[in-house]
Amino acid sequence: MALMTKEEYIESLRKLKTKVYMFGELVENPVDHPIIRPSINSVAMTYDLAHNPEYQDLMTATSNLTGEKVNRFCHLHQSTDDLVKKVKMQRMLGQKTGACFQRCVGMDAFNAIYSTTFEIDKEHGTKYHENFLKYMKEVQEKDWTVDGAMTDPKGDRSLSPSKQEDPDLFVHVVERREDGIVIRGAKAHQTGSINSHEHLIMPTIAMGPDDKDYAVSFAVPTDADGIFMIYGRQSCDTRKMEENASMDLGNSEFGGQEALVVFDDVFVPNDRIFLNGETEFAGMMVERFAGYHRQSYGGCKVGVGDVLIGAAALASEYNGVPKASHIKDKLIEMMHLNETLYSCGIACSAEGFKTEAGNYQIDLLLANVCKQNVTRFPYEITRLAEDIAGGLMVTMPSEKDFNSPVVGDICKKYFKGASNIPTMERMKVLRLIENLTLGTAAVGYRTESLHGAGSPQAQRVMIWRQGNLEFKKDLAKKIAKVNI
Ligand code: SF4
Ligand code: FE
Repeated sequence: MALMTKEEYIESLRKLKTKVYMFGELVENPVDHPIIRPSINSVAMTYDLAHNPEYQDLMTATSNLTGEKVNRFCHLHQSTDDLVKKVKMQRMLGQKTGACFQRCVGMDAFNAIYSTTFEIDKEHGTKYHENFLKYMKEVQEKDWTVDGAMTDPKGDRSLSPSKQEDPDLFVHVVERREDGIVIRGAKAHQTGSINSHEHLIMPTIAMGPDDKDYAVSFAVPTDADGIFMIYGRQSCDTRKMEENASMDLGNSEFGGQEALVVFDDVFVPNDRIFLNGETEFAGMMVERFAGYHRQSYGGCKVGVGDVLIGAAALASEYNGVPKASHIKDKLIEMMHLNETLYSCGIACSAEGFKTEAGNYQIDLLLANVCKQNVTRFPYEITRLAEDIAGGLMVTMPSEKDFNSPVVGDICKKYFKGASNIPTMERMKVLRLIENLTLGTAAVGYRTESLHGAGSPQAQRVMIWRQGNLEFKKDLAKKIAKVNI
């Protein structure tokens, strides 16, 4: 089953005994839950388009492990061309879903762990890379969606993992057995965790010798004993539970998803361990995963940005002012900002290089610049979209009012814009802008742009480290003829 269909993917989720809580209760059937289902539809798109001849080149690749055709989300990048195609694929999927399609965290974890385990084994004579190769073959064969999980709850940010008052605030080993390890802790903000077949865990920060039990990487099935999730709610989420309110959703078909994933003494067998106590390699794994995921944002956020720019342009037409020069200028600015993000995503990919293990890594400096821009530009694009849309996007009545026999005609009369545009069509576009800027998709487009793949300061630390300031000082000295 090297390439699952969309239907097979959804059925495969039904077979898992995933334990998820929402509003304080265990969800009986996550797959058909109205709040969860749109996020499953987004992941399903990554399966569906892999079968579409038009998107073969972007959505699939040839595995270096088996020679088989695999979904690009399960691929180990073999060239800078692969890295570029990854970004293009993410932009295209953002355009089709207008949401987070969740599967990138796994892809980014695969590539970071593949190269890091190779280097750990070289240093320590361990078998982590061999374990990981076996695991990757299974991932590719079964076409799994995998939650690449990094972010721990972290407690007091000034303290290292082993110094926290509560030892569970970072995922850690609580028991070492002959046949494996037992894990306790949690991972927060986990994108797509409920829609994943597997969880692939990495440490969240560089660690010192005292943090041995916290320097751990491993893979477990999503429904393994001891794992459960608590759904992260999103702005306007309960609209999805209302009847006859699909217009009010703005994007009724697709969405993103984040959750807290709890590991309550979960057993991991030896052959699924990829790091276990080699603290000096925790930082390398973190840096590489974060680098790949910062590249990812130069694709997915740009695709969602394309949808938002399109919606703003439509809103201006439906408002009757498509030719106003200030509107045109605002749309130009939005496109300029969006394409700048894309340029960074492409640049860090084109400047990628081969790791010791053989897969390709992005240029870390440019990937961090990419993500630093992502922490800013979507906010400005959002501001401009709201400016063009007008206040109605947050004051308009519900779909039920528009369809009401009592006030429906009044709503349609007073909310009409350009005379050739039916009022309801205008409302749909305004609701989409609301969804992207303030509603459920805003999690992925706004706040996730700030904090996802690391908050702004994390990129600034990397830019400082990768920026090669000494080289730049030497350039200046040479030209100024400084003699010290
Ligand atoms: Fe992929 Fe973007 Fe979602 Fe991260 S935020 S999983 S890169 S779509
Ligand atoms: Fe993310």
